[in-house]
Amino acid sequence: MTEQKPVLIAGAGPVGLVAAASLVKQGIPVVVLEAGPTISTEMRASTFHAPTLDMLDDLGAAEAMIAQGIIGPRVQYRARDQSLIAEFDFRVLADVTRHPYRLQCEQFKLTRILHELMSKNPLYDIRFNARVENAIDHGEHVEAVLEDGTRIAGAYLIGADGAHSAVRKAAGIAFEGFTWPERFLVLSTEFDFASIIPGLADVSYYADPEEWFFLLRVPGVWRAMFPVRAEVSDEEVMTEAFARARFARVVEGRCDYPIKHTTLYRVHQRVAETFCRGRLLLVGDAAHINNPLGGMGLNGGVHDAVNLVEKLVPVLRGEADDAVLSLYDRQRRGVTVEHVQRQTIVNKQNLEARDPVAHQAFRDRMASTAADPAKAHAYLLGMSMINSLRRAAEIV
Ligand SMILES: Cc1cc2nc3c(=O)[nH]c(=O)nc-3n(C[C@H](O)[C@H](O)[C@H](O)COP(=O)(O)OP(=O)(O)OC[C@H]3O[C@@H](n4cnc5c(N)ncnc54)[C@H](O)[C@@H]3O)c2cc1C
Repeated sequence: MTEQKPVLIAGAGPVGLVAAASLVKQGIPVVVLEAGPTISTEMRASTFHAPTLDMLDDLGAAEAMIAQGIIGPRVQYRARDQSLIAEFDFRVLADVTRHPYRLQCEQFKLTRILHELMSKNPLYDIRFNARVENAIDHGEHVEAVLEDGTRIAGAYLIGADGAHSAVRKAAGIAFEGFTWPERFLVLSTEFDFASIIPGLADVSYYADPEEWFFLLRVPGVWRAMFPVRAEVSDEEVMTEAFARARFARVVEGRCDYPIKHTTLYRVHQRVAETFCRGRLLLVGDAAHINNPLGGMGLNGGVHDAVNLVEKLVPVLRGEADDAVLSLYDRQRRGVTVEHVQRQTIVNKQNLEARDPVAHQAFRDRMASTAADPAKAHAYLLGMSMINSLRRAAEIV
């Protein structure tokens, strides 16, 4: 190989660092440019699906993640009166994955683990306080322009710089889609909901025509997520009274749980018009964002990074033409639209269905799917995102 320019990666979030680890593993030098002063401590994502864990295992990161997370083999759909609509057990996927469960583990643990794994590798160069403001594709190489005017040259630039991606903007790539009118409120508490809700799974979605919600256990806390109507002000949402009123919906007559964190998110469904333009490539939230119902955003981002690196390495080694990068776009953008966007929108519509006929149809469908082993297996292939990866592999 002639002298190898590094691959530049904007953003040391979970997806940027998966891209970095995948490249470094193949002997490709990377320069990661992170706007923040340190590795992100964001909690946001907490669900890691089976095929994502298989990929992280290939990078040597899964064992530490599993040690720091909670293995959740079951997922439930419940009604607000706590009656069980359906329960699925991921262990039936043991025939297709090495990790047949959902791992509940905050996303900052992944960034920390990957950063530590690479920290002594001379191919890994990470720079903090290095916000990318512009990206220039010179045809034969790229330049990232930082806030302070510094220019850094590389072979390609991967934009893993989140939903507001400067790389996407510099490439002139539109980010089409819509924003939901409601915001999503996440309340976390050290109170153990499983102590008062018999048989509660670590992930439980509550379908309710009045107001859906879900409960999810992460190490040390339970998180509850609720939709918040557009007309309620941010100030009101952030009051303790508002949080207590939401908690009162979980178990009738109880709202006295200690509140550890309150976070309010605006939620979007958007997909970049292309995931690659010349030497500027997009992965993760820079390329797509969706609502968190089903835990598919970060997982999809990891799948992007792994897919992209598979295509990019042969190009960097001179073994493939860079036209192969358009296959990355077709495969990953294709399944983002066909699977991730469609599924997360359907997940939300199912939980919030107001029409009694639609609500009952959802309950009946879930119950009959869970009761039939073959249907349950097929359903979990979709829920765990194995289907979307299989579909991506079919796209040529
Ligand atoms: C409440 C909530 C719950 C969620 N739960 C799940 C879940 O369970 N499972 C799941 O799969 N997904 C989930 N998601 C989505 C998930 O959090 C995101 O998809 C994920 O964080 C995307 O990772 P990323 O690395 O692409 O971007 P980010 O995590 O946004 O990281 C981007 C990084 O780039 C840096 N950066 C930004 N701009 C620049 C710049 N110009 N130059 C340099 N650096 C820059 C940032 O500082 C940051 O470190 C959830 C989201 C929300 C809001």
